[in-house]
Amino acid sequence: MQRPRFPAQMPEARNRTSPAKPISNGKPTAARVGSRAASTMPGAGPQSLGLDSPALRQRMLHRLTAQGVSDPHVQAAMADVQRHLFVDTALVNQAYEDTSLPIGFGQTISKPNVVARMLELLRQGAAGRLGRVLEIGTGCGYQAAVLSHLATEVYSIERIRGLHDRARENLRSLRLPNVHLLFGDGMLGFAKGAPYAAIIAAAGGESVPQAWVEQLAMGGRIVAPMSAGGAKQALVVIDKTPQGVQHSVLEPVQFVPLKSGLA
Ligand code: SAH
Repeated sequence: MQRPRFPAQMPEARNRTSPAKPISNGKPTAARVGSRAASTMPGAGPQSLGLDSPALRQRMLHRLTAQGVSDPHVQAAMADVQRHLFVDTALVNQAYEDTSLPIGFGQTISKPNVVARMLELLRQGAAGRLGRVLEIGTGCGYQAAVLSHLATEVYSIERIRGLHDRARENLRSLRLPNVHLLFGDGMLGFAKGAPYAAIIAAAGGESVPQAWVEQLAMGGRIVAPMSAGGAKQALVVIDKTPQGVQHSVLEPVQFVPLKSGLA
């Protein structure tokens, strides 16, 4: 596969936004995060306030384990990523609490235990890393960073330009060459990266878009919140098997809405 380049924009998005940024050869669609990494290491700045201490993440991990998160790969990934680097300065002291937090533009970062639960479901207890994974709803980029430890490649789509830019900024110093940020409408998936071993959505719609099922590899899994009638949402797992597509509805959840188009 051709190595993606800047700027991070999907072809569909290019067609709908004007003026489009110039692209050197007309082909690139995804940004490779970290390729222009800043020289500073995460947590080294004056705002770090000791929040980069591994002890804080270990405490979060103990809580997650007590809540039933048992997949060692997910545990290790959650223990590795510094969540405070992704939240607003005014809220960093809550970064390792089990709480969802606002990330601007009316959106929120999910609770750590919801992130861990979904990633566990996504992995299905796999022995090693998943292959290519598509994430719908980059938000601040936190979950994409956790996913970077669990998948060979992560394609993450965001429809709000300001958040897409913020995620790129947040992820830059982490130097994660396998994370590709895309600006576009995730309801269309990202056909160029398909087939995906797994697809995870951080925003809930009325139904799971057909494009996601089409772009999922055989044997792959989608984990997404979905409206279960009215304002209620539930976590849904969709498995693509040779016998057909199987849906399971799990526990109630609360996610921001999946919206079409760009903002
Ligand atoms: N995983 C994120 C959570 C972000 S909240 C994190 O770790 O921060 C969900 C995000 O989904 C929001 O940023 C919202 O803008 C985005 N979203 C909603 N509908 C979308 C769509 N159709 N395509 C792409 N992103 C979408």
